[in-house]
Amino acid sequence: MHVKVLGSAAGGGFPQWNCACSNCRRLRSGQFSGRPRSQTQVAITEDGRDWFLLGASPDLRAQIESCPELHPKDRTRSSPISGVVLTAAELDHVLGLLMLREFQPLSVYATASVARILTEANSMFRMLDRVDGQTRWQRVRPNESFRLLGPSGDDLGITCMPIPLPGTYPAYVQKSEDFAAEEAALGLIVSSGGRKLGFFPSVASITPELRKWLATSDLVLFDGTFFEDDELRRRAGTGPQAREMGHIPVGGENGSLRQLAGLNGQRKVFIHINNTNPMLDESGAEYRAVREAGWELAEDGWQAVL
Ligand SMILES: [Zn+2]
Repeated sequence: MHVKVLGSAAGGGFPQWNCACSNCRRLRSGQFSGRPRSQTQVAITEDGRDWFLLGASPDLRAQIESCPELHPKDRTRSSPISGVVLTAAELDHVLGLLMLREFQPLSVYATASVARILTEANSMFRMLDRVDGQTRWQRVRPNESFRLLGPSGDDLGITCMPIPLPGTYPAYVQKSEDFAAEEAALGLIVSSGGRKLGFFPSVASITPELRKWLATSDLVLFDGTFFEDDELRRRAGTGPQAREMGHIPVGGENGSLRQLAGLNGQRKVFIHINNTNPMLDESGAEYRAVREAGWELAEDGWQAVL
């Protein structure tokens, strides 16, 4: 399986349009030891021909253009992108679907709750369903593995296991109690040829169950949103705690670095990194701490073959 990271930042990207935190300021003035990043987007393929997107970021148009493998190949309208797997209804995870609305047949794998939130409560997304067969909504159920299918229904050799995580529906969802709690936030174990990618860009807490799934993965893409619990207040002047936003911080006594210290034998990569996160600064102590603990930081264009 080929895994490409097209975007590695949290919502807002890096730099973020309305942010003058130390990271964003120094990046804009060319005095930052680190790279800009677009919003988190991953693409996977087994055969190199049919690709699937994990999520659909607001930066998707530029991300597709940055990746030659995702360009249309013949002279007609077409795309190597067979479909999208959604793990949540967060805007920075679904807005890119609207970029894919050009009557291009696509499969979208989503839980019943996420599909309903998009297609019933948000009329803009009906642009994905204007003609028969434009979007094939494929039902995902927590803890039930499913196989990714190509445009003509052929098995692409990739299996996904959706792992329910503690989490809530985004703030734009009215009456979130109408939707199944276990469908609000999923992680994914993506397997092919006996190799496993663990995709967990949004993790509120590390449960024993989650630890078990991480331990069986060959490559882990894990929530690197914040380094500190009070990072937004401390570095951008205002904002809730990381844990209140459903993100376990990387650093600190109960952070993911400490909690996952025993996780060895796989590639461990932080993704979905917020622009305020001090570990983005490659000359800083936080970056060193992360690297010394055996973790990498995803950046746009990062890729791996499993
Ligand atoms: Zn910033």
